[in-house]
Parts: sequence; C-alpha cells; structure tokens
Amino acid sequence: MWASYHLSGYYYFEGGSAAISNALADRFANAGGILKLGTKATGIDIEADKATRVRTAAGGCLEARYVVSNASIPTTYLDLVGKEHLPAEVVAKVEAKKLAPSTTIVYLGVDFDYSDLFPSGSHEIILQPSYGRTKEDFDAMACTPEKQSFAITNYSAIDSTGAPAGKNAIALTINLTYDCFDDWGWTRSYSDFNEQKADIAWQFIERAEEVLPELSTHIEVLEVATPQTIEQYTQNPKGSWAGFDVDPSQGLMAFSDPEAHKTPISNLFLAGAWASDGGQSVVLGSGLIAAALVLVTEPSN
Ligand SMILES: Cc1cc2nc3c(=O)[nH]c(=O)nc-3n(C[C@H](O)[C@H](O)[C@H](O)COP(=O)(O)OP(=O)(O)OC[C@H]3O[C@@H](n4cnc5c(N)ncnc54)[C@H](O)[C@@H]3O)c2cc1C
Repeated sequence: MWASYHLSGYYYFEGGSAAISNALADRFANAGGILKLGTKATGIDIEADKATRVRTAAGGCLEARYVVSNASIPTTYLDLVGKEHLPAEVVAKVEAKKLAPSTTIVYLGVDFDYSDLFPSGSHEIILQPSYGRTKEDFDAMACTPEKQSFAITNYSAIDSTGAPAGKNAIALTINLTYDCFDDWGWTRSYSDFNEQKADIAWQFIERAEEVLPELSTHIEVLEVATPQTIEQYTQNPKGSWAGFDVDPSQGLMAFSDPEAHKTPISNLFLAGAWASDGGQSVVLGSGLIAAALVLVTEPSN
C-alpha cells in the first residue's frame, strides 16, 4: 500500500471508498453480471483437480468454469477448498503465516466545522506521543491506549458529501489490534463489550481535544469499530485488512505478481489483499491480474 502511494500517488474518493465499489458493481451489473450480496460462500467443490461449483450458506450451488476467491487465503484454502485437495506444504505454509494487524476506529459526526484547524490543504493530524520507531517503542504502545499514536481524519475537509454543511465526519484510527481486545476479556458479554468500547473511545476523544478543542461537546454521532467488527464484515481472520503480515520473512511486494494469484487448483484464482497485499488501489490491480489469468487459462469444462 505504501509503495503504491509512492509509485502512483494517493487520492480520496468523493463519497468515500464505497463509491468505487458501487461504481464497479453498477458496471458489472450493466455488463450482465449477477451480484448475490449477503450470500456467504461455504465451499468450493473440487473434482479431478478442478474447481467445479461454489456452495453457499443458503444451500445454493453455482456451477463454475473458473472461480476467483476474494475471501482470505486461510478461508479459501482451509475452509472453502479443504486441506485434502491441497499439497501438504501449501497448507503448512498458510497455517504458519503471521497475519497483518487490524485497527480500531472511532467514527464521529460533529456539529462543528473543524476544517480550519487542520494544517493548510490537509485533512489529517497524527498525534504521536513519542518519536520512537523501534520495535521496543511499538511493543510499549501495544494495548496501551494512553501511549498509542493515532490519526485524526476529517473527511469533511476534503469531501462535502459525508456530513451536512457546517458539520464534520471525523474518524480516529488507532492501532489497538485484535489480541488487545482478547487480552482484556472484552468478549465476555455484549453489554460489557459495548461499555468498554465506549470507554476506550472517550479516552481517544479526550486526547483529540488537544488539537480539536471541545470535541466531546460537539458529538452527534459516535460509532466504534473494533478489529472484531472488521472481522465480522470482511470475514478476515482477526480482522486483518491487509492480509498476511508485510514482513521480510514472509515476502514483500507481492503486488503485481501473477504467481501470487494462482493456486494449486488450475482454474481457481485469488484476488484481493491476501494475494497482493492490502490497500484499495493495490487490490483493484489484483482484480485485474485475476481477470487476466482467467482469460489465458483453459476452462474446466
Ligand atoms: C479502517 C480501515 C482503513 C483503511 N484505510 C485505507 C486507506 O486509507 N487506503 C487504502 O488504500 N486502504 C485502506 N484500508 C485497506 C483496504 O480497505 C483493504 O486492504 C481492502 O479493502 C482489501 O480489499 P479486498 O477486496 O482484498 O477485501 P475486502 O474489502 O475485505 O472484501 C472482501 C469481501 O469478501 C467478502 N467475503 C469474505 N469471505 C466471504 C465468503 N466466504 N463468502 C462471501 N463473501 C465473502 C467480505 O464480506 C468482503 O465484502 C483500510 C482498511 C480499514 C479496515
């Protein structure tokens, strides 16, 4: 993702990133494609080393000449295809890989325009208690809300579609990962979890007041997304939105590599962050690679 910013530049989309998904969905439907939203894939049938059908949670069964999976690689290989159809070394590699961390986000709708408090031409302020960038510094911040650096993003400073005039849509993005919530036993009950989520959110709102005065008094909407929320929406293990960890021991710069989009099943391809690294522009490129692989591969029937 970082490399793509440097190579191609970085942009926000008017209407938020969902505007891109919606535009792609419209184009797909206009070209005759059928979208089945809210339909969970539960299995990919393998016959004679080829993917032949996709099974769905509602009991659906879709015949397929090719399958492109945008689900996580652990889900695709271990749950949808099944270990028995894959070489043991591929399964071992997938099971051993470290996942990239997830994120906690506090979404705010405020009845005040803070745009002028963001440095000229900018929409983001990062509050960082220390300049330390070593592994020890990061370890000290982990699961410690008061030591965490975090980003304050005012989408309304660059996109008027997110909030009514004079109001702002702001997000606080925090590196509290999945295991923090596990460690703190926040999965005890729904009401406990909600209360503790709110508690964490208010700690960061108060810290944000250092640069956005009286933020807490202007809040009309408050939503908190934990890594568990991201896991629920994306189905990605531990809410990892960047796929496998980007770490020299696991390989860097998988993006643009067609080999990373192939699987041991010749007509099953991968697309998205798990095949190519995370980031919106990166995964769009990954979809193009998967499509190109379909075009040059013999179908299963
Ligand atoms: C809070 C946050 C902020 C981010 N900010 C940025 C940013 O500023 N810039 C940037 O470039 N990137 C950003 N990202 C990362 C970027 O959003 C992701 O890397 C990217 O969306 C991954 O795309 P994808 O297509 O691989 O997967 P996803 O967008 O996760 O899509 C996968 C889809 O598959 C569905 N799915 C999964 N399993 C199944 C199944 N079994 N059956 C049916 N459907 C299934 C999921 O529900 C989901 O809709 C951010 C991510 C988060 C969470």
